[in-house]
Amino acid sequence: MVSKEFNGAHCFLPLRSYNQYMKNSFLHFFILIVICSCSDNSSSVSENTRTNRDSGFESYKENFVEELWKIYPGWASSQGYHKYDSVLVIPDEASRQKELSFAKANLDSLKVYDLNSLSDNNKTDHRMIENQLNSIIWSINELRSFEWNPSEYNVSGAFAELLNGNYDSLDVRLRSFYLKMANVPAYYEAAKKNIKNPTVEHTQLAMEQNLGGVSVFEKDFHDVLNKTRFGEHEKQAMEATAKASADAIRDFAKWLKELDNKTPRSFRLGKDLYAKKFEIDIQSGYTAEQIYQKALKHKAYLHRKMYGLTEKLWHKYLSGTHIPEDSLQAIRLMIDKISEKHVEADSFQSAISKQIPMLVEFIKQKDLIYIDPSKPLVVRKEPDYMAGVAGASISAPGPYDKNGNTYYNVGSLSGWDKAKAESYLREYNHYILQILNIHEAIPGHYTQLVYSNQSPSLIKSLFGNNAMIEGWAVYTERMMLENGYGNNEDEMWLMYYKWNMRSTCNTILDYSVHTKDMTKGEAMHLLVDEAFQQKTEAENKWRRVSVTQVQLCCYYTGYTEIYDFREELKKQMGDNFNLKKFHEKFLSYGSAPVKYIRELMLAEMNSTK
Ligand code: ZN
Ligand code: ZN
Repeated sequence: MVSKEFNGAHCFLPLRSYNQYMKNSFLHFFILIVICSCSDNSSSVSENTRTNRDSGFESYKENFVEELWKIYPGWASSQGYHKYDSVLVIPDEASRQKELSFAKANLDSLKVYDLNSLSDNNKTDHRMIENQLNSIIWSINELRSFEWNPSEYNVSGAFAELLNGNYDSLDVRLRSFYLKMANVPAYYEAAKKNIKNPTVEHTQLAMEQNLGGVSVFEKDFHDVLNKTRFGEHEKQAMEATAKASADAIRDFAKWLKELDNKTPRSFRLGKDLYAKKFEIDIQSGYTAEQIYQKALKHKAYLHRKMYGLTEKLWHKYLSGTHIPEDSLQAIRLMIDKISEKHVEADSFQSAISKQIPMLVEFIKQKDLIYIDPSKPLVVRKEPDYMAGVAGASISAPGPYDKNGNTYYNVGSLSGWDKAKAESYLREYNHYILQILNIHEAIPGHYTQLVYSNQSPSLIKSLFGNNAMIEGWAVYTERMMLENGYGNNEDEMWLMYYKWNMRSTCNTILDYSVHTKDMTKGEAMHLLVDEAFQQKTEAENKWRRVSVTQVQLCCYYTGYTEIYDFREELKKQMGDNFNLKKFHEKFLSYGSAPVKYIRELMLAEMNSTK
């Protein structure tokens, strides 16, 4: 299961079953045969060639993924492909050379396929594979985070998945666990050889995360082992290997702590590396600098809008008090006041569940996008292993998970102390809760997922473009309000602007910290004073920006690209523009980068003119 949280690192992979993928390529093959058997008709030649090309590319993709899993067995396991569960790659120079040759060989293979001869689905797959391969080469040769980011070395997550997975019997999973452990000491020895002048922040993170994961080997594995029927002798050998693994992890943490690191690298990526990482990770039609400039302008626009609404609402909520000179202070007072309208802790879950059918009804009424009634969203109470993270998230099965459901997990606040619950409920107040449902569920992430499943592509579920996925969810928030969701209430708009300010400032923060030396004090001013966030939220964001790069930009970048594209089309098409058709067409390309969807949609429009 992969889950998508509204406030975490949105690591997300759309639902896809391997079964479905196999069926699809088989179907393709079948169609090809039918066309060939009647191809004496000369008018079908070009169609025939295209299908031929596509079929060739389909088998290339299948081979490519098989090869990919040999190079990245851990990634394979995490996607539900379990052939290489027992393999742990030692991250040494030899393994990097293997990655490089894999990437270079496949870049050559890709050149065989002329983009123009491929279907739209394969065109985008082709470009996404190419981007992934370039990313591998660039990361090893230029970014070189394997030298400065010790938190890249951590094995416990992958081992925990082997223990907790339910795709195979416990005995089979434990045997893989045992075999995979054999390389743990060599893994950490190679890590030590790689590390050079690491950043202080990533070193700290690596120690915390590695020490936090030792329990997988010392406790969890031991507990599970007792439930198996392995012989006593074998159990002892397994226990000994687990101990050696735990020792290697502790030793790595100790080594990091004692590391003589007189000239640590800055956690700030710097302008050049940042620009390139943005290009590779986001695949936007804009550069990082352009997006930053747009975000700054958007922040000023949001402030103007928010102040206008604050003035308008002042009399209704705060009559008798003076509106502060400082417009930011005035906005904050109004936001605090409006946040008092919220559900009670014990009705948090039911409030979320009740809104889903209302959203569907609104979309139907306004004719905004087709919602497939045969695929209703399954709302459930969050499972125990997610407990503690209130709010809501989407869990979708990975690409190889044949029969998995997609769930909307709704958290519970039971057991929270009063003050913590109150602060949380004010944050996810009456208005924001609705925007959250739009973002996570309908017509946000869940709806996008349903559409992307209609053009199945294993490539897109593995390399799906995060800026497109997040951008769509953020775009739908505004689109719903523009179409009258929330009755155009001033309060709803004010809260929406505050919410939108969060993604906008994520981008400003990320760019400023990594390329413009923004200090922590300046960051706090941005997040707390200008974006009206709580201090805890801002502190957590600072921590996140100091150990990640570019990722925080995906929300705003995707949103602004989709919005700009829609406005561009509206202008071009005038009265012929239809919002519902735009949404359905846009989503039909799957989780591809917005710039490629734009290109394909414009080309199709011009060809049918
Ligand atoms: Zn309250
Ligand atoms: Zn999201």
